[in-house]
Amino acid sequence: MISENLENLKKELPNDVTLVAVSKTKPVADLMEAYNAGQRVFGENKIQEMESKWQEMPKDIQWHMIGHVQRNKVKYMAPFVSLIHAVDSLKLLKEINKEAKKNERTIHCLLQIKIAEEESKFGMEKADASALLASEELKNFENVKVVGLMGMATFTEDEKQVSEEFMKLKGIYDEFKIQCENFGIELNILSMGMSGDYKIALKSGSNMLRLGSAIFGERNYK
Ligand SMILES: *Cc1c(COP(=O)(O)O)cnc(C)c1O
Repeated sequence: MISENLENLKKELPNDVTLVAVSKTKPVADLMEAYNAGQRVFGENKIQEMESKWQEMPKDIQWHMIGHVQRNKVKYMAPFVSLIHAVDSLKLLKEINKEAKKNERTIHCLLQIKIAEEESKFGMEKADASALLASEELKNFENVKVVGLMGMATFTEDEKQVSEEFMKLKGIYDEFKIQCENFGIELNILSMGMSGDYKIALKSGSNMLRLGSAIFGERNYK
C-alpha cells in the first residue's frame, strides 16, 4: 500500500517538487517499504526517533527535521541531518552552526514563517525573518546555510483561506529571494503542503511537500 501510494503521488507531482515522506511514529518496516519503492527523503519531528531510524536504516537517506527544534537537542542530529525545516531564531541558527562545525558539516535550514491564524503554530513574523536574513551575524555562520522558507496553513476545511495563506508565503518567498541576492544567500526551497492541503500548496508554488498520512496511512497520535 505504501509503495502504491508513493507511485500514485509521483505521477501527480511535477519533477521539480521534492516529496518528503513524513514517517514520524511509523515503524522502520514501513519506512523500508517506502525506501524499497525508491523514496530517499524522510521527515521526522522528534530528534531521538529520527536518530534511531537513521542508525537502523541505509545511509543514502536524507533526513529532514520538520518539527520544532530545541537548542539543547541540536547536537544529536548534527552528524547526519540534511535539512532543518522549522528554524525560527538566530539563536537556534547559532547553535546549529556550532554543532555543524564540530561535525565538519554545513547544515541547510529553512526559516519557518507564521502564516496560519492559529496562535498555536510556530514560526517567525515576516519582518523578523527579513531582519534575520539581513543580519551581520548570519554572515559569520560558516557551517549553516538558510536555503528557503517553510510554512503551515491553518487546519481548516476552508480551501480559500488555506490558499490565501499559501499565496502569502509564496509572495514572501519571492520577495526574500530578491532581497537575499544582495547578501549572497540563495533561497530555492519553499516547503509547504501536507496530506490535507498539498494540492492547494502545489497551485500556490510549493516545491517541497511534507506528506505523512497520504503515504503511510493515518497515525494514531501526532
Ligand atoms: C506531521 C507533519 C506533516 C505531515 O502531516 P500529514 O498530514 O500526515 O501529511 C507535515 N509537516 C509537519 C511539520 C508535520 O509535523
